[in-house]
Amino acid sequence: MRILLLSDIHSNLEALDACLASAPAYDRAINLGDIVGYGASPNEVTERVRDLGKVFVRGNHDKAVSGMMTLDDFNPVAGLAALWTRDQLKPQNLDWLRGLPEGPVFVEDLPQLQFVHGSPLDEDEYVVSLPDAIAPMLSSAAPITFFGHTHLQGSFSTNGGGSDFYRPEYRTVGQAEISQFPLKEGTRYMVNPGSVGQPRDGDWRAAFASYDTQTRIVTFHRVPYNLKGAQERILAANLPPKLATRLAAGR
Ligand code: ZN
Repeated sequence: MRILLLSDIHSNLEALDACLASAPAYDRAINLGDIVGYGASPNEVTERVRDLGKVFVRGNHDKAVSGMMTLDDFNPVAGLAALWTRDQLKPQNLDWLRGLPEGPVFVEDLPQLQFVHGSPLDEDEYVVSLPDAIAPMLSSAAPITFFGHTHLQGSFSTNGGGSDFYRPEYRTVGQAEISQFPLKEGTRYMVNPGSVGQPRDGDWRAAFASYDTQTRIVTFHRVPYNLKGAQERILAANLPPKLATRLAAGR
């Protein structure tokens, strides 16, 4: 089965459209959360992803926007964006976000895989470094975990021989590119497709991943998108200008 993995779209419609346009053929789309927050197209993005698939995990921004979590842990910019988003969302989209499940999410015909926003041990935890990933990898119910939340594209792994990490390296800063990473049998993984709409690894391009359960190859993707369009929409919405400028820096 060919799976499309989307995470941390953050209401960035331009980035989502670019990812979908360049995504390879897939059998199922799976969403790892933070559909909304930061960007200026919460209704459009929510409606677009609802049509894409049935498997979703809730993110902290989805919870905060829909009133399932306080804004106490949000910085002022994220908090303002969350309140703006709550105000903009149609009631049916707000209700749908409120009903998203907590991870880990399992899919019956994909027993090797589980899907989370932060960590399998805590949906709000940030798994940034290899040491962060060891305990979740060793205690997970499934050997392969797809996660988001950090907006950092790459993979952590562990087996009897040791532990390792992988960060895709790309040759350009502005073209569509892929980086392929085969998963070994007998190794446990946490794989992050990166953030569609709010990359944070210094690369402004939208990030996503695809996974083929037959070949066990993860393909990491980076695609340029209509950055200016996304920025203009943020400014026109009177959201904090920082949310527009940081998109260009990929930070
Ligand atoms: Zn996020």
